[in-house]
Amino acid sequence: MEWNNVLATRNARMKASEIRELLKLLDQPDIISFAGGIPDPALFPTEAFRDAFSAALTGPKAGAALQYSVSEGYRPLRDWIVAEMGKIGVPCTADNILITSGSQQALDYLAKLMISPNDTVLVGWPTYLGALGAFNAYEPSYDRLDPNTNRPAADFATKAEAAGGRVKFAYLSVDFANPTGETIARSARESVIDLADEMDIAVVEDAAYQTLRYDGEAIPPILALEIARKGSIENCRTLYCGSFSKSLAPGLRVGWVCGASEVISRLVLMKQAADLHSATTNQIVTHHVASTQFDAHVAKLRSTYQARRDHLLKALAREMPDGVSWTKPEGGMFIWLTLPETMDGADLLAQSLQSERVAFVPGRAFFADGSNGNTVRLSFSCADEAAIDEGMKRLGRLIRAQA
Ligand code: PMP
Repeated sequence: MEWNNVLATRNARMKASEIRELLKLLDQPDIISFAGGIPDPALFPTEAFRDAFSAALTGPKAGAALQYSVSEGYRPLRDWIVAEMGKIGVPCTADNILITSGSQQALDYLAKLMISPNDTVLVGWPTYLGALGAFNAYEPSYDRLDPNTNRPAADFATKAEAAGGRVKFAYLSVDFANPTGETIARSARESVIDLADEMDIAVVEDAAYQTLRYDGEAIPPILALEIARKGSIENCRTLYCGSFSKSLAPGLRVGWVCGASEVISRLVLMKQAADLHSATTNQIVTHHVASTQFDAHVAKLRSTYQARRDHLLKALAREMPDGVSWTKPEGGMFIWLTLPETMDGADLLAQSLQSERVAFVPGRAFFADGSNGNTVRLSFSCADEAAIDEGMKRLGRLIRAQA
């Protein structure tokens, strides 16, 4: 069978991610890895989940836990999320929440909802690789959005028209972004709302790391700032994507979208058609664990990850040669390195795996145009202090030898 003859055009844009290919190599025990952007499994609230599964599958409600359920999501979980959103300046009701299978599914559905082939999506440069992957299936063009430097709306619109469509939404990873670790300042969030209003486009706000702040002041979500201007979530163009993956555990695949009920209703129809609903049992146990120990658990995550971030920042200052710079994130899991312009992150990785046995993610894949090859993402979430010290010693040595 010549499968290319039957593939839809969208497949041309769907390629194996550099990170996934790389993760296959990381089973080798002697590799010190800063590659996977994943939570430390040693920190999962495993016992709480074991108890929650046992409770969900015991007694008269066990049948319901294993049964089909509504596409909108498990109502007690939606109500818990409503209360949490209220605490961060987003007053809303359960009609404003759809439970998704991770926030990754929310990115897919929002793209499916809004992008026709050749429409334009505004993204950060770099941006979350998985968002580009989700959007690519709907065949968009990309344009560069830097919320700190206002480009005129007409400039975006003209470029989008030349690409054969219209700008549909701006996508932003707002807190401790993947891959840079950087946070969008309040004034820049306000300017994104101005731009979106002027262009009449939606804003997709990715808040996957929002709970993992280690220092500095929390900044209200774009959705909260927009509600403060417009009075009600029903008047807002921002669609907030939340996730339990970084705060509790990613394996259950539970996330949510919060936005105007008109959009949520459309997404509910989409979910009905795609997978009926997210796993019933997983939503029930997520609600059980979140409602009993969310704050205490997140506090524990924060102190552990903060110590690892601090340790990595110190090791970088000690080991990196002149000409290498890096971000100093206030939370999350990532530090972003910029190497001298003559160097390439992918080449460095190949050499590093061979001679130093240190893994990381080359930065190029995070740019919609594949530019800026002299960048590298380091994740500190799973690295202990000894691994950080040894890993940065080796990486610094390799970079110094090349620079
Ligand atoms: N957004 C960002 C910025 C991420 O880094 C990730 C996962 N790495 C996701 C969304 C998707 O996470 P999940 O589907 O597990 O909620």
